[in-house]
Amino acid sequence: MHVMEVSATEAYILQHEAMVRLGFFALVFITMLAWELLAPRRSPRVSKPLRWLNNLGLFALNTLVLRLLFPAAAVGIALSVGEMGWGLFNLLTLPFWFEIFAALLLLDLAIYLQHIMMHRVPLLWRLHRVHHADLDIDMTTGSRFHTIEIIVSMLIKGVVILLLGPALIAVLIFEVLLNGMAIFNHANVSLPPAVERVVRYLLVTPDMHRVHHSTVRRETDSNYGFNLSIWDRMFRTYIDQPEMGHDKMAIGIAEFRDAKQVDQLPGMLALPFVGKT
Ligand SMILES: [Zn+2]
Repeated sequence: MHVMEVSATEAYILQHEAMVRLGFFALVFITMLAWELLAPRRSPRVSKPLRWLNNLGLFALNTLVLRLLFPAAAVGIALSVGEMGWGLFNLLTLPFWFEIFAALLLLDLAIYLQHIMMHRVPLLWRLHRVHHADLDIDMTTGSRFHTIEIIVSMLIKGVVILLLGPALIAVLIFEVLLNGMAIFNHANVSLPPAVERVVRYLLVTPDMHRVHHSTVRRETDSNYGFNLSIWDRMFRTYIDQPEMGHDKMAIGIAEFRDAKQVDQLPGMLALPFVGKT
């Protein structure tokens, strides 16, 4: 029989995982909600209550499906991989802080590469386009993904964790940061220009990520980063500003402009299966 060996710290993390995630999520959510309401960057093209209801509805559905399919989630996978001694970091002896740092960096690179794949592989783009089809972009866009894309992402994340064998705490920090950054960089806000320029050297800002939601395909296929902005510069997928400017640029996908199809739950769930391309 396999004996579970969980250190005291790991047990603590596992016990409080849901609370840490939820607490941080609530904090970022409330902060960005207030920011969007007080100083919105663009005026909405579509009814905000309609989009919010449907985007958050899809998010709720995905959370439920993930809990049912993968109750242990990414942190659980990291725990099992650690117990079996698999993965790069379980083979190397590195200072703990360095391992955490390297794991966060590599996990971020992995999701950057996964995001490019979602755009380049036609079948995966069909799924990922549900995220892009939103006619406005705001903090709720960051949590609207097709349920099948969420499952595919979880499986890919599982493989990455299997290969890397990162510490449990690194996976938890990464997930919490990623969720927070997704809300932040989709938000309908702008940092003050002087601050924005500096932050953008290292992190993905709302202005940088908005370019990725442009209807201009060249701009859609740029700025793939979620947390760090360095990968887009390194791999030459970086575009500084939208051609039309932030106020005038069209958000979404050129071929899908019907709000019923792209901003209402039944249409959103059907979107991967319509059309030839
Ligand atoms: Zn994308």
